[in-house]
Amino acid sequence: CTPGSTKSREEKIVVTVRLRPLNKREQLAKDQVAWECIDDHTIVHKPQAHERAIQQASFTFDRVFGPVSLTETVYEEGVKNVALSALMGINATIFAYGQTSSGKTYTMRGITEKAVNDIYTHIMSTPERDFRIRISGLEIYNENVRDLLNSESGRNLKLLDDPEKGTVVEKLVEETANDDQHLRHLISICEAQRQVGETALNDTSSRSHQIIRLTVESTLRESSDCMRSFVASLNFVDLAGSERASQTNADGARLREGCHINLSLMTLTTVIRKLSVGKRSGHIPYRDSKLTRILQHSLGGNARTAIICTLSPALSHVEQSRNTLFFATRAK
Ligand code: ADP
Ligand code: MG
Repeated sequence: CTPGSTKSREEKIVVTVRLRPLNKREQLAKDQVAWECIDDHTIVHKPQAHERAIQQASFTFDRVFGPVSLTETVYEEGVKNVALSALMGINATIFAYGQTSSGKTYTMRGITEKAVNDIYTHIMSTPERDFRIRISGLEIYNENVRDLLNSESGRNLKLLDDPEKGTVVEKLVEETANDDQHLRHLISICEAQRQVGETALNDTSSRSHQIIRLTVESTLRESSDCMRSFVASLNFVDLAGSERASQTNADGARLREGCHINLSLMTLTTVIRKLSVGKRSGHIPYRDSKLTRILQHSLGGNARTAIICTLSPALSHVEQSRNTLFFATRAK
């Protein structure tokens, strides 16, 4: 009766790529489209007239979504199974990874909305169980944790080690949602709160990570022998722009960026790479950053993970897009 034990043969990490359309600014600047999704699994670099053959031009993933795909499709085909596993007591995390302006927030907001709809549809159709949904929201900026549901709590909440719950954020507000409307309202508070920070601190969203965590608890109304109660976290994580990850590209050369290294992002990429390698990977450095400490119990082990890598199609961003695809490849 251990939740998740039947899932062992399912993929623990699902890696998908979403290519957005060229935006107005890119169109006006006559930027070219550098990538094309040639089927549901493959994205290829479109060589430009003057370009020599490049090192790696084709990448395959569990699923790739082209510029006309809807968030609904990304949810249904890339994320839904992972999100709904939280209803069965399995911790789950959904990430949006990509450079600034590639579509992380756009995708994550849509995904969160669809997941909330699905969760409540499931609750309605499962009258034999009693569900309770709680929500918390936080932002990590410069390794400082801020509560998105309580603007009074300051910018540097402490992490504590709880023997039962693992890492907890001290004083983080957790609200119980009365129904789906209320839950949507609480999510919108988190999103608005993040935007407040953005104007005050000059582009924090490219440097900060946002986690919206739903805790899903359910109990069987009529007691039966097993699976009486489940509890699991479902985390929606809108990551800092991947240009903040201090990665090396395929040539081993340092990215030429004026950006500071983002410790949480760098540690996350290491953790995900090690998890994808599996048991042979040895020590997993969850404790090296705030983000990975907070998510530790929702990554690895029985937990399920979906990573949506968002990509700008623009030729002017081709190097960053390639780095995103290298990250996505290592996460598989
Ligand atoms: P990020 O969070 O990665 O910095 P955003 O989600 O803010 O990027 O997206 C940047 C801009 O591109 C926004 O104006 C957003 O509405 C638009 N956008 C992103 N993804 C898509 C998409 N798949 N289809 C249409 N517009 C998109
Ligand atoms: Mg964003």
